[in-house]
Amino acid sequence: MSNGIFNVPVASNEPIYDYAPGTPEREALLASYKEQYAATVDVPMYIGGEEVRTGQLGKLTPPHEHGHVLGHYHIGDESHVKAAVDSALAARKQWGAMPWEHRAAIFLKAAELISTKYRYKINAATMLAQGKNCFQAEIDAVCEFADFLRFNVEYMTQIYSDQPESAPGIWNRLEYRPLEGFVFAVTPFNFTAIAGNLPATPALMGNTVVWKPADSQIFSANVVMEIFKEAGLPDGVINLIYVDGPVAGDYIFSHRDFAGLHFTGSTAVFQHLWKTIGTNIDKYRAYPRIVGETGGKDFVVAHPSAPAQQVVTALSRGAFEFQGQKCSAASRAYIPSSMWPAVKEGLLADLATFKMGSPEDMGNFINAVIDERAFDKIASYIDFVKEQDDAEIIAGGGYDKSVGYFVEPTVVVTSNPKFRTMVEEIFGPVLTIYVYEDADWAATLELVDNTSDYALTGAIYSADRYAAIEAANALENAAGNFYINDKPTGAVVGQQPFGGSRGSGTNDKAGSYMNLLRWVNARTIKECLVPPTDYRYPFLG
Ligand code: NAD
Repeated sequence: MSNGIFNVPVASNEPIYDYAPGTPEREALLASYKEQYAATVDVPMYIGGEEVRTGQLGKLTPPHEHGHVLGHYHIGDESHVKAAVDSALAARKQWGAMPWEHRAAIFLKAAELISTKYRYKINAATMLAQGKNCFQAEIDAVCEFADFLRFNVEYMTQIYSDQPESAPGIWNRLEYRPLEGFVFAVTPFNFTAIAGNLPATPALMGNTVVWKPADSQIFSANVVMEIFKEAGLPDGVINLIYVDGPVAGDYIFSHRDFAGLHFTGSTAVFQHLWKTIGTNIDKYRAYPRIVGETGGKDFVVAHPSAPAQQVVTALSRGAFEFQGQKCSAASRAYIPSSMWPAVKEGLLADLATFKMGSPEDMGNFINAVIDERAFDKIASYIDFVKEQDDAEIIAGGGYDKSVGYFVEPTVVVTSNPKFRTMVEEIFGPVLTIYVYEDADWAATLELVDNTSDYALTGAIYSADRYAAIEAANALENAAGNFYINDKPTGAVVGQQPFGGSRGSGTNDKAGSYMNLLRWVNARTIKECLVPPTDYRYPFLG
């Protein structure tokens, strides 16, 4: 019975543990890390109520020590994609009809489990699987993930309470139906929170989901699923499968009941999926919703009035935390020549203190990049820079994959504002800097706007308010998340709704009601309280 108009708990951001030396949290986190490091997990797919093991195994290894095996996952084929779709469709009716407050309660419980019982487990799993230090794992797997779930419940009620006016004698209502079919969630390696949120958001709105994570995130995805199950998510609502992208895509994008894609990952993959959906458009029952948050080439622009040390810190953190593997990471910077000596000195001094290694040693600011493919790609960019005349590496430039996938934080300075590494997303710890003449401020803003196809995040540092306004106007379409005197990373759910446009995605703003709206299909109901009984209008006399 839903005889009540219920208020949901007011969402607030999960407090971040700092894991300072000597704190009990640090001890508890390290204990969980060591336990998961020493164990060997056997990770099944989750289809309906079943844990599916195929015996065809993929290896789970930490990026900082690829010779160490954390466990195995069971690789599926097209029959598992089909089973997951069938299971999602079978669960759809009952789940969609579940009173919203019960769906809300399940995800609120999941958030509570993340911030309490599973806090250290999901944090340590993310440190191990994705190569994050404890702070990066905390702000992702614990805080952002719990925030997504709690704030989304609030946004759901905002959407449901958005109701039309009613003229006298009439009652108009909007019913926010789930989509007619299943949703396909395809998630990236770099954030456990995004991986959990992409299937959870459509599910909260009453949809059922097939979820395909990135291979390198399966270890922590398994913990996400453990939490969803303990929270009481019914079987079949989220079906987790490990198959090659194209194997899943071939089946799903030809299915009549495919109703939506919730994607985060690279621009090239998203464009490929969109094209496939477009080609198959006549096969579907309804027009599928396509939501994709993709790559970035995120900028920091310093105005000559900005304090140099603020710019230095923005670059040290913005470009190199999590080895530059955030879609929002600063990867191109524009520094005025008058400020450059101070920024260069400060940046080199910071980099000289960065320690790199395993996340278990909490003194390490920098860890490994995610896998061999990423390592080779980043290394090839560094090699390319070394061969060019119009760019120079002033810090880093080394890499070594003998034990783990380690790439030194690397700073490139170029005299060519359209240099390749100013334009393309590298997704690694490589920052390219262009030093502009102070007098060329306005022209530099134009350069920033025109240099890359992406438009995800960007930051302007200025002590001069007129210059900040000029930059905000000139860069209106250059970033979906624009920062004034702050680094371009670290968006917080409920505070800075996240997403970019141009090549960076559909900008449906994860962590806001805008995203949730994509997972409902509104039905307008007009009810006439006393229907007319004579067709003749008064004007007919
Ligand atoms: P990726 O594009 O390589 O993979 C993303 C997902 O797509 C994975 O699950 C992968 O297996 C799947 N996939 C790949 N090919 C497929 C196919 N043909 N069919 C179906 N699925 C397929 O990205 P990644 O390396 O995991 O993540 C890094 C990328 O994600 C970067 O470009 C980064 O900028 C972007 N990203 C964007 C945001 C954002 O909010 N804008 C957030 C995080 C990451």
